[in-house]
Amino acid sequence: MIFLRSVSFRLFTLSISILSVLGITAALLQDVVVHEERVKAQDAVQSRRHEGFRTVERALSGVRLWQGNLATAAMTGDPHWQETSTQALAEAQGRLQASLGSIATYAPEVVGMIRTGVVQLPAQLAEAVAAAHGGHRPEAEQAMTTARETVLAMERGLGTAEEREWGAIEQLRASEREAAQYSLHWARYCTIITVVLGLLLALTVARSLVRPLRRVVTAVREVAAGTPVSGLPPDRPDEFGDITLALRQFQDQAEKLRAMAYRDPLTGLANRTRLEETLHSGIVRCARSNTSLALLFLDLDNFKSVNDSLGHSVGDRFLREVARRLQHLCADVALISRYSGDKFTVVVEGLKRDGTQDTHLKTLAEVLLRGMSEPYQAHDDFLYMTASIGVAVYPVDGHSAEQIVSSADAAMYLAKRSGRNNVQFASPELTVEARRKLQLAGEIRRGMATGEFEPYYQPIVNVRTGEVAGAEALLRWHHPQRGIVLPGEFIRVAEDSGLIGELGERCLTRAYEQAVSWSRSGRPVPIAVNLSARQLQDKRLVSLVEQLQTAHPLRPHCLEFEITESVVMERLELSQQTLQDIRSRGHKIGIDDFGTGHSALGYLQRLPIDRIKIDRSFVERVDSSRQSRAIISATLALADNLGLDVVAEGVESPAQVREMKDLGCTLQQGFYFTPALPPDEFEAWVSARR
Ligand code: C2E
Ligand code: CA
Ligand code: CA
Repeated sequence: MIFLRSVSFRLFTLSISILSVLGITAALLQDVVVHEERVKAQDAVQSRRHEGFRTVERALSGVRLWQGNLATAAMTGDPHWQETSTQALAEAQGRLQASLGSIATYAPEVVGMIRTGVVQLPAQLAEAVAAAHGGHRPEAEQAMTTARETVLAMERGLGTAEEREWGAIEQLRASEREAAQYSLHWARYCTIITVVLGLLLALTVARSLVRPLRRVVTAVREVAAGTPVSGLPPDRPDEFGDITLALRQFQDQAEKLRAMAYRDPLTGLANRTRLEETLHSGIVRCARSNTSLALLFLDLDNFKSVNDSLGHSVGDRFLREVARRLQHLCADVALISRYSGDKFTVVVEGLKRDGTQDTHLKTLAEVLLRGMSEPYQAHDDFLYMTASIGVAVYPVDGHSAEQIVSSADAAMYLAKRSGRNNVQFASPELTVEARRKLQLAGEIRRGMATGEFEPYYQPIVNVRTGEVAGAEALLRWHHPQRGIVLPGEFIRVAEDSGLIGELGERCLTRAYEQAVSWSRSGRPVPIAVNLSARQLQDKRLVSLVEQLQTAHPLRPHCLEFEITESVVMERLELSQQTLQDIRSRGHKIGIDDFGTGHSALGYLQRLPIDRIKIDRSFVERVDSSRQSRAIISATLALADNLGLDVVAEGVESPAQVREMKDLGCTLQQGFYFTPALPPDEFEAWVSARR
């Protein structure tokens, strides 16, 4: 609170000071107004008094005039004039008496003096007139002079009083003016002080609030942009210090979160999100600098078997070891990441576009392969593992991160198909293929949403009795433009893009409903559904079967499953559990494409299976190749020993039917009977055979 308290204290003090000075200024100005008003009042008093003196003065000059006239009349002895003058003088004296009231309040001594004069004057004049009438001229003149002097004395007294009055008022006015000037003077100072204080306030606001706030805003923006906080020293012992500290902590947290969002928790390597971002930004950089970027896509060979046979903790340790080796082997690469499961990627940037890049990349990939094939110590045992690597280069194999990944992935699959433990480079054909797959995956997704997939049914015939012993559900895609698309075109892509789970569930659900419908119609036909490797690893398969059973009970033997040999062999442990779960619910399980997996026959004993489906490749040569016949015979004998059914797949000709039947294989399936049919055609086909 130190900063805020000190700022608010400063602002408060300044505001109070400004208000006080403003108050004083206002009082001073008020004072100026009061003084000015007083001056004006004095002016009025002065003019009023001046008027009073004028009135008395005028009356006095009337007295002087008639007194003079009377004196002259007395000297000339004109009785009429004398009488007129005496009368006029008396009137003038009366007027003088009356006018005295206007100055009586402020010049009482003058008024007293004039009154005395007015009282003396008739006597003096009477004396002068009498002396004139008596012919005593010098006495008459003497009396006249006395009377004149009385009037003059009155006039002088009046003048002096007026002057004195005037002076007193002037003095009063001057002091008021001075006081007003004084107040005005101080008011001016106060205004200057107010302005200075105002400036100080503005400066304080700017310095203590605006500037630090601007810094805080900059710091917040920096945090938002992920750049280090600058400008605010963290050791400031006030609120701004707290804010910086909080921002720094927030930034650290954000950094940690970011790191977590970009890190694979198991291996500590970058994750897929980070890879995608690195590819995006790397492509931009390469385009600018006219260089190349390469992605090495590494997939461990048969890693699942490690997990299945040694358990997940060994598998995890193994993956961490792979990460460690990759970091050790790739010193100067842009990024090493774990893409998913047992897939890792290495990004190499800044390659010259001069044809030498492939040699460099091949060398690096081979170093990685050698590094991966070094034995791993697991418990007391040594594990031997290899990897397959696909390499794609920007810009030849793609222009976007997505295209580069799918090209490298396609090259990696080629490496798998080429016998594993090798490197393959993406080629234009592969890239085209990869893009096609990407597009196809999108199409499959759309097709699933609009319900374009449905199973057809191919009958399995008992050639001894002629009866239909069952049917295999085979998916068909009713593509809006291409018509019916066969599974060969989409199953692999659906498996690679993770769509097979949903697609398989739809097929299973539809086949199940069909089996229920045929059961209810009184002509039950067991339906075999094909399962993919992924479905076997997914617990949802068993729960879906349970759900379907609960919704519409069906005799378990009416639903069968088929899995290919290679699928079972690759994921023996996991598959075994799922297969046992299915089988314990009464469903039969068949091994598909039997004979193509080149596996030891020993596994047949260990697997919970009921049926073998001899692959079409043997059946098609049964009437021409002794070897094929020998293999089929051996298979039939083995199956007989193990108590398994055998179905011949892909029977196309009467000769194949007969040969297989003669060898002891009575269950047959193939175009000879019919290709897979939609349900209504299947029913019609079955009815026609009866
Ligand atoms: P598959 O399980 O071996 O199925 C038998 C394939 O052989 C079917 O091909 C069938 O139409 C074909 N076929 C049957 N008789 C003959 C014949 O006499 N001559 C020839 N040349 N071929 C014959 P289809 O329907 O194209 O399916 C191909 C593969 O796709 C299937 O091989 C199976 O592995 C997979 N598949 C089909 N439906 C599903 C499904 O719902 N789920 C999964 N996971 N895979 C499926
Ligand atoms: Ca099959
Ligand atoms: Ca088959």
